[in-house]
Amino acid sequence: MVKKELALLAELVNIDSGTGDREGLQRVAAVLEREVSDLGLSWETLEAGNGSLHYVARRGHGAPLLLIAHLDTVFARGTAAARSFRSAGERALGPGVADCKAGVVTILGALAKLAEVGWPDRELICLFNSDEEIGSPGSREIIERLARGAVAALVVEPADGESLIVARKGIGRFVLRVTGKAAHSGANYSEGCNAVLELAHKIIDIQSLTDLAAGVTLNVGVVQGGQRPNIVPDLAVAEIDLRTVRPGQETRVMAELRRIARECRVPGTRATLSGGITRPPMPASPAGRRLFEEFQKAARGLGFELTACESGGGSDANLVAALGIPVIDGVGPSGGGYHSETEYLEIPSLFRRIDLLAEVLGRPGAFPAAPL
Ligand SMILES: [Zn+2]
Repeated sequence: MVKKELALLAELVNIDSGTGDREGLQRVAAVLEREVSDLGLSWETLEAGNGSLHYVARRGHGAPLLLIAHLDTVFARGTAAARSFRSAGERALGPGVADCKAGVVTILGALAKLAEVGWPDRELICLFNSDEEIGSPGSREIIERLARGAVAALVVEPADGESLIVARKGIGRFVLRVTGKAAHSGANYSEGCNAVLELAHKIIDIQSLTDLAAGVTLNVGVVQGGQRPNIVPDLAVAEIDLRTVRPGQETRVMAELRRIARECRVPGTRATLSGGITRPPMPASPAGRRLFEEFQKAARGLGFELTACESGGGSDANLVAALGIPVIDGVGPSGGGYHSETEYLEIPSLFRRIDLLAEVLGRPGAFPAAPL
């Protein structure tokens, strides 16, 4: 059993499936189709409005429960060949090994356990999407449609140690583009309109919208502008990241961003603001707390303790939470170094999470009896 699941993980890691790598993603999906078909689940390919492909496996009837894990990674074609799956002691390494291919294997492992001990009296819907790493632009509509009919959703992203994620920050992304007028800095200084200077004023205004006590942060993370020191710059661009913790906080911030874009300190410059909210916040909720407690009971039965944690990052759980559907994230095994060459999975955690997920899925009363 242990060997089978690590072999499956190795097979998945060794297929490059960066977001947008249609052929690689389809190869990963073909492996999953083979696995779930063996367990008696149906398999369906769904094409999103933007043409991206996502996959759904289903089994059973009544009170649907949604499980979500993503197939895409942040790694380009050729990464798997350059550093293929390997294990070193209790760690496994390779592109996407923890985020999120071990999550996919956690779902398959739990399904295999249920096939042995008996299926729960409900419909299990497993969504494997292909664009999570870029904010799920295509699969969002599919996630929302499936979540609306479900009693709850479990997002099988990697966990931080023995924890589950009960809250996530919301995310906004914006680009502020300032244009001015170029001029020779020596001969015609006064004819220039300095876009970099205007942006500098705006950056200070934007950063000052941060309210740490309220959990609202703004980060001007990328700045570009100008061409040469002896030219008054006519273009400057800033990329901005917004994080919130409660629904509605973005409204005030966005109004302020629009005001800052409008206000002009350097005559002759103009600014345009683009972008918006990519992930609504997933605040801690009583329904999420109850789900967490069911996981905690199951973990204690298996001999370990779980803690509830809040994450500053976003995931598909944010999209589900915005609909008011109870959701728990971080159901997958723990690892580290995500999105980097040092990404690793804690192998024992994979088997604990498979046991935990199978146990919770099999528990009568662990989930609400009917959708909201
Ligand atoms: Zn992930």
